[in-house]
Amino acid sequence: MADRQYHLKFDSSKAASVDDYLEYRRIVGDDDGGKLFTPEEYEAYKKKVLPMREKNRLFTSWSSSTGMDCKMIGPETLCFCKHRYKQHKTDFETLGETRPILLPCRVKGCKCVSYHYVPMNGSQPIRCTCKHTSEDHLEVAPFLCKKFPNTCMKCKGFYSAFTCGCGEPVYGHSTVVETAAERESRGHPVGHATPYQAMGGLTGFSSLAEGYMRLDPSGRGAPPKAFLEQAITAHDNPFLRANVHSIKAYQMAGRSDRALAPDDEVFDDLTERVSGMRRPGETDMDYFERRYQERRKNEVKGKAIEGPSTTGRRNPAKAVSSGSAKSKSSRK
Ligand SMILES: [Zn+2]
Ligand SMILES: [Zn+2]
Ligand SMILES: [Zn+2]
Ligand SMILES: [Zn+2]
Ligand SMILES: [Zn+2]
Repeated sequence: MADRQYHLKFDSSKAASVDDYLEYRRIVGDDDGGKLFTPEEYEAYKKKVLPMREKNRLFTSWSSSTGMDCKMIGPETLCFCKHRYKQHKTDFETLGETRPILLPCRVKGCKCVSYHYVPMNGSQPIRCTCKHTSEDHLEVAPFLCKKFPNTCMKCKGFYSAFTCGCGEPVYGHSTVVETAAERESRGHPVGHATPYQAMGGLTGFSSLAEGYMRLDPSGRGAPPKAFLEQAITAHDNPFLRANVHSIKAYQMAGRSDRALAPDDEVFDDLTERVSGMRRPGETDMDYFERRYQERRKNEVKGKAIEGPSTTGRRNPAKAVSSGSAKSKSSRK
């Protein structure tokens, strides 16, 4: 299929038929068992499911521990069981009081008990600590590695330290399935009612972006300024450290008119800027040893204050308690 291209030309009436078909697919999905409904069956089907989708729509998202919906699940989003969200049960006539709401996979032979999202690293599946990908693991709890009895003795169930865009590792997140009322009480948007199947958490265009980029309540807005602008330390990603001087140059640009106050933002990364420079007479070995010791010292200090922290990860505590961090926006 990939090596062939089709150029289909339609007049407007035929294009309308294509639209009708797409609409049909979005509403019916695979519920017709691969055989198109007759118009009567289609009407009967709509009569049955549309009220369910209006009343009992479930909103599915993959949320971090701070309550940000990092990923809104849509009909085509893959589950850990490698089937799509729309292949799971999403239409409910009544919703009981039991939580969590389970969305079992409807594909024959799949043992997936309930939809749960697993992020991708770009287009690659993420890896477990056993070094095998998420796809190499069973779809039932405790998600053992399929290579388990023979070659993989290390796996005690899928566990990944892959970091989401929000700065938290995968295991800090959970798949949330909630009703409109529950979602509203969390302060997240529910959008308009839709007749389409398995819309999950999609409530608008912004749902397609990752949570930390989304500027609506479902992403809880952008992280606070204090989180984004915390000083760069020896602890940070090498990319950030490499750019610490350009950041200063940017801050200095066009400000010759103002005198510098001691708490000015150009002094923020001073420690890192000074220690990142080679001292006179310092050899490569001395330099890297000094930088290493500095990182070690920071790590120990960091642990004492805010618990374990991972190298290359910005302090997530600041994302939550912005009140305690010094606010830089007030200086402007
Ligand atoms: Zn499945
Ligand atoms: Zn599944
Ligand atoms: Zn394994
Ligand atoms: Zn594993
Ligand atoms: Zn996240």
